[in-house]
Amino acid sequence: MTARPRPHLPMRPAWLCRNCAAPWPCGPAQLALVTEFYGHSIALAFYLAASMQEAIDDVYGLGLRPNPAAMHARFLGWLSLARRPQR
Ligand SMILES: [Zn+2]
Repeated sequence: MTARPRPHLPMRPAWLCRNCAAPWPCGPAQLALVTEFYGHSIALAFYLAASMQEAIDDVYGLGLRPNPAAMHARFLGWLSLARRPQR
């Protein structure tokens, strides 16, 4: 197999995954972020908060109204689970 796995990166301004078309961060993207930021959970939280802010700005740019609670749950809501110590 020579095909490289396509990264699960957001496609703006919709913030859908370029690979699987799920709302970003999709499951594989979350896994990749936790791996990339392993041991740096605060930095990951800042990165996700910044991404959420950009996504909210993009929603306004599209002339729509973002749902702050839904955006927070999507970008940061999964983080507390990822930060729990692994068994
Ligand atoms: Zn994806």
